[in-house]
Amino acid sequence: MWCPKYRRQVLGGRVAVRLGELIALKAAERGWEIVALEVMPDHVLLFVKHEPNALRQAQRALKAFGRTKRENRTAKHRQAVDKVAKMHRKVARQRLDHAHKTALGLVRDYDQIAHERLNIANMVATSKPKPDPEQPGAFSPNGAACKAGLNRSILDAGWGVFLGILAQKAESAARVLIPVDPRNTSRTCPECGHVDGENRDGEKFQCTPCDHRDHADRVGAWNVALRAGLVLPDMA
Ligand SMILES: [Zn+2]
Repeated sequence: MWCPKYRRQVLGGRVAVRLGELIALKAAERGWEIVALEVMPDHVLLFVKHEPNALRQAQRALKAFGRTKRENRTAKHRQAVDKVAKMHRKVARQRLDHAHKTALGLVRDYDQIAHERLNIANMVATSKPKPDPEQPGAFSPNGAACKAGLNRSILDAGWGVFLGILAQKAESAARVLIPVDPRNTSRTCPECGHVDGENRDGEKFQCTPCDHRDHADRVGAWNVALRAGLVLPDMA
């Protein structure tokens, strides 16, 4: 189910027809079967049927073989390993393709592009080890923090690949890339400058002192543009 902002009744007449068409198009593109679709004036109900994630399935099948040394694996086990590896390569190719297309679109449409500077510190940081209670003086890896740090660094690695591609295309098209300090871009109010984690609640941004409200991603983008000097502060 999806609702327009403030549940305004905007989905009528031609808008409703066009929305139905677009949803059908997107579903066909993704290979989803639409079981039910209802476009109502203030909400959309959509129920789709689709194949389970193929990579997830292949990973589960591989896990069933347990941990075995490479030379002791059966033919079926080796097949399962190959299948997962092949799918990982496909996902990587698709990501790269998407990065190229997105970067090309940006470079075509804009003369100046501001972005958050890549956080190199995040990419090399490891989580703090915690003392092991069983063995005084020894340290056990901090599982949760390790994982969070790893996820963060994977995200940053993807961002880095994208920025590299964007930089190449920007240079050959004589476009300007402006990196800005990424700190607190999603916590700063573009209206009054107040910086507070309380300003943000998921997708919603609402400034505690001045009550400025917007989508959190739009606020982040405004702050990046402001820092890059692409927008005058009183326009925000
Ligand atoms: Zn504010």
